Amino acid sequence: MNNEIKLDKYVLDIHLENPEGRALDDFFRLLKITEKKAPILVSLIPSQIGGFSHDVNFSEEAKGILKRICLDRIIEPVQHGYYHHCPICFDEKTNSAVDFKDPFHEFSCFRRKVPREEIIKKIKAGREIIKDYLGYTPRIFSPPNFLYNESLLDILIEERFAYLMNAMIVLNSPYEYKGMLTVLHESNADIGRKKADSSIFYMHNDKIDFDFIEKIAPNLVSLNKLLEEQDVVNSYSFSGNLDYLINNSLKDYYKLLRDFLNIFKKR
Ligand SMILES: [Zn+2]
Ligand SMILES: [Zn+2]
Repeated sequence: MNNEIKLDKYVLDIHLENPEGRALDDFFRLLKITEKKAPILVSLIPSQIGGFSHDVNFSEEAKGILKRICLDRIIEPVQHGYYHHCPICFDEKTNSAVDFKDPFHEFSCFRRKVPREEIIKKIKAGREIIKDYLGYTPRIFSPPNFLYNESLLDILIEERFAYLMNAMIVLNSPYEYKGMLTVLHESNADIGRKKADSSIFYMHNDKIDFDFIEKIAPNLVSLNKLLEEQDVVNSYSFSGNLDYLINNSLKDYYKLLRDFLNIFKKR
């Protein structure tokens, strides 16, 4: 298999979700790349910008750089939940001796049904934080752990989001939900650079590869530009959406297996 990416245009979505783990140098590198006018999406967790995450928060310095790179409109902030984790499962993980559960889901918890009002309140509050701090009202939403359901898509339409970013195991064409929200499928950049079968790459916080980004920078385009040339499948009926069912079942099984294996790792 060829290791080089053959596409000539693609979109990159970097998840900056553990700011404490990132050296300030990395933010400067990101700034340098954006100076070459390479458009990049950056998925951000509002509570980390607001400084009240239970997990980690952005330092003032890192936030300052983030603000600078967002101001020139080359980097587009994407709203990545509100807390990013489920407060109940996060507490349990923190207080439990057998710590194997993954709390990094927010609106789709296996243990409880998150009330609709709570989701709306958090999405609105998170959007305000990004708007206040970075001067940009996000139009793209990426759900924590890429878990979503029809109810979340309806809320995103009501809240006037135009896109949902979803990292996929099985890749498929982007589709329009109820003609108002485009669901876009991202492939993991780490795997994607080998498979090269998606035009949207997702790069997780701990796997940001700046050399790779610099190499692909000339080929990076804005989401609008990419979608001008991509076919978007119209109006999927969600309940019969095989794509969603396959991907979500695979993700669920993967997570259960990971939690299970973690029990042994911790021993
Ligand atoms: Zn939970
Ligand atoms: Zn995340």
